[in-house]
Amino acid sequence: MAQEDLFKKLVSHCKEYGYVFQSSEIYDGLSAVYDYAQYGVELKNNIKKYWWDSMVLLHENIVGLDSAIFMHPSVWKASGHVDAFSDPLVDNKDSKKRYRADVLIEDRMAKFEAKIDKEVTKAKKRFGDSFDEAQFRETNQRVLDNQAKLDELNNRFVKALNDNDLNELKQIILDYEVACPVSGTRNWTDVRQFNLMFSTEMGSTAEGASKVYLRPETAQGIFVNYLNVQKTGRMKLPFGIAQIGKAFRNEIVARQFIFRMREFEQMEMQFFVRPGDEMKWFVHWKAFRMNWHQSLGFGAENYRFHDHDKLAHYANAATDVEYKFPFGFKEVEGIHSRTDFDLKQHQEHSGRKIQYFDPELNESYVPYVVETSIGVDRMFLQVISSSYCEEEIEKNDGSKDSRVVLKLPAFLAPVKLAVFPLVKKDGLPDIARGIIDELKFDFYCQYDEKDSIGKRYRRHDAIGTPFCVTVDHQSVEDGTVTIRHRDSMEQERVKIEDLKNIIGEKVSMKDILKGLTK
Ligand code: ATP
Repeated sequence: MAQEDLFKKLVSHCKEYGYVFQSSEIYDGLSAVYDYAQYGVELKNNIKKYWWDSMVLLHENIVGLDSAIFMHPSVWKASGHVDAFSDPLVDNKDSKKRYRADVLIEDRMAKFEAKIDKEVTKAKKRFGDSFDEAQFRETNQRVLDNQAKLDELNNRFVKALNDNDLNELKQIILDYEVACPVSGTRNWTDVRQFNLMFSTEMGSTAEGASKVYLRPETAQGIFVNYLNVQKTGRMKLPFGIAQIGKAFRNEIVARQFIFRMREFEQMEMQFFVRPGDEMKWFVHWKAFRMNWHQSLGFGAENYRFHDHDKLAHYANAATDVEYKFPFGFKEVEGIHSRTDFDLKQHQEHSGRKIQYFDPELNESYVPYVVETSIGVDRMFLQVISSSYCEEEIEKNDGSKDSRVVLKLPAFLAPVKLAVFPLVKKDGLPDIARGIIDELKFDFYCQYDEKDSIGKRYRRHDAIGTPFCVTVDHQSVEDGTVTIRHRDSMEQERVKIEDLKNIIGEKVSMKDILKGLTK
């Protein structure tokens, strides 16, 4: 299936099966804002739990926090967001569409990459097993030409970003003949900076009101609480503070469904370390976070690191964890070595001493920070994209059928168990209800008695329920039921009293968390 088609299907599947709805849909929606529906909210909560437990429960030196969205306006002045949290925007004069200049250039670079990949794929087919990809990339003229063009463009781009040279960004767009995808023309305005923070007023009277911002990242709530947590938790360096919460950015171009939203959720952990130790911890967290992603079983080849050429004003090292979405490799998580920038800035602007007394060195200093920052919504999209499958299947009578199935890792699935009485009589519904009454304290179960068993299976395949249990007449006689496994579609007969153990073991997060500690 073409990747574009797959993405369209994912979006409509999310709507049709109660995962994600457009916000305010009855009023034709609000751009780049989405609501999580009955199954979406369960999956989202499970993703958050996986992150929280892996960071807070598995690390005795990481504690949680839930800071407010509104913060003192000086926080954003100190952090640099008021002056520098902006993206370069450019408009096409014909289509009147607005774009991020850096994204237009990145897309142009991706075209060179695609050309290289095409050559490699062609050669792979031609040479079969004897194909030496590394050698091919080093010697094939067409690959080398495209790589040289890509490097040249990348160098110009990085320099323009580092110099904050907006004229040069426009010149690159013109030189590389980047056209508007809508109008097809190259009739561009100048490139301008656009601040991404939303602001509002706090206070009841116009005179007494002050401008406050909706936080564009959760990290600052952690920095301004560093002293409180360190003191009250008697934390010793190195230690971390983890937080999950909403963030808001007035994104210039917000497309691609929940990938880029104006209101989204972040899971961030700021790890405070001794100055000089930050690179060691940066390497440590890179490895830990990549392992966290890959433990979901979506294929190691679908992840890569992308080191930043242009570092943010606060960082001395930064990398992204990228996942291969249907629209290409894109950032899911950022890992940044933020130096002592934030704490120092808050120390200066607040006039409060924000330091750590290191008993081993017998000296006080401002700690350095390594941050891991992941978007819940992008993670959600990663999970849904990798789990969505269309399959041809054979029916009992040998005829062909098809099914759409979400092969979600069982511990993330919204509904863990669906229970079906074969018919709505003969006491079967009572037994089915009895099973749910017993198991609902351990996991989310649903009862379903409408339509044929086959149709009920399809409904639960589509929402990703890993186990379906059918109660039939034999159940009345011997207390057994059939349990059907979503991915293999295999069925087995088991005792009702064994269900809790069989399912409990498969949907538990314990094994995956244990794997992260090895
Ligand atoms: P991008 O380059 O895609 O705009 P970013 O580098 O600005 O992202 P960070 O500031 O590092 O992103 O934020 C950390 C994480 O928060 C990102 O890796 C992403 O998962 C998530 N995130 C950032 N902006 C958005 C958004 N507009 N919608 C959804 N998630 C977002």
